[in-house]
Amino acid sequence: MNYSNIFKYFLYGLLVLGLSSNANSINDLNKIRTSFDNNQKKVRIVFDASKKIEFQIKNSKNQSQININLKNIRTNKNFSKPSIDKKYFKKFILRKIDNNLDFELVTNYKIQYKYFSLKPNNNYGHRLVFDIYLGKKKSTNTKEKKKNSTKKIFVIAIDAGHGGKDPGAIGRRGTKEKDIVLLIAKRLHKLLKKEKNIKPILIRNKDSYLSLRQRINKARRYKADLFLSIHANASKNRKARGSSVYVLSQHGATSEQAKWLANKENSSDLLGGASIDDKDQDVAQVLLDLSQSVTIETSLKASSIILKKLKKISKLQFNSTEQAGFVVLKSPDIPSVLIETAFLSNPKEEKKLKTKKFQKNIAKAVKDAILEIIRKGII
Ligand SMILES: [Zn+2]
Repeated sequence: MNYSNIFKYFLYGLLVLGLSSNANSINDLNKIRTSFDNNQKKVRIVFDASKKIEFQIKNSKNQSQININLKNIRTNKNFSKPSIDKKYFKKFILRKIDNNLDFELVTNYKIQYKYFSLKPNNNYGHRLVFDIYLGKKKSTNTKEKKKNSTKKIFVIAIDAGHGGKDPGAIGRRGTKEKDIVLLIAKRLHKLLKKEKNIKPILIRNKDSYLSLRQRINKARRYKADLFLSIHANASKNRKARGSSVYVLSQHGATSEQAKWLANKENSSDLLGGASIDDKDQDVAQVLLDLSQSVTIETSLKASSIILKKLKKISKLQFNSTEQAGFVVLKSPDIPSVLIETAFLSNPKEEKKLKTKKFQKNIAKAVKDAILEIIRKGII
């Protein structure tokens, strides 16, 4: 097909056609109809109106879209936008600008087009018809997309809990949570660094104190795709043991979000003297509020994979993800999961937490989980 003549004619200009002398009375757009020809090479777009349509075409430089400014017209009450085939079209926009309607059609193809007006007949009123011919698929676009999807680098924020003046839980032998979780975080970081499509970030890489806000800000600065906070648990019950995984509950997200808004500056630093008396308090220090249920959904999916991998190397305290309404991961847009690796308050587990083997196993399990999370397109 060669429509180049028609196309050239319209290509760089701005055309004003069909200007009516009666510009003051507003036209009604009743419908936009679309139809394809049999071999899907041409799409016809028909604007049905109560009067002759005045319009202006703004040709785009990249030849894959068409912009038409429909003059002095409004959509009538029964108007509904037609659905478009995503295979061919990227965007179909109708904007009201003053008394005009701006129609924008963005396609996945190089296009050419012609148009004509039709007077009313027995079946239809005034019509403006555009025939849009789909040429070559915009190759740069699809290539770019492919490149992007294969080249997507996943940023994983690894947050070793506590640090500096905040030791976290302390075991009977004096093992400090902040030290153990930093070792595990570093091991995980090292493993993830080997993966081509992963960029791991250590929220802290030394024994330093970071407020909750600082932790989140850092993750956000790096545009993290996933935030993992690593901890070791503690309980009054010295027999309590096993790994567990937390995400924020919707209820917690909502109420904490409200609290946060009310008290922006203070809410991030609830790290008082960490107590090993109450395991919940430990969790409370870490998880911040996630305001979006979508993020929580994603966090839940990710956490169940993490739990599945942990199960292979450790006893689980709970068989499913726990959801808690604590003041914790304050990024509404970053899926966030808190991992309690084991109980420092349990003498056996304290001993285990200190071993390279267990630290490595945890790091490996979490790494495997992250790979599966990415493979399954969860983040
Ligand atoms: Zn902790």
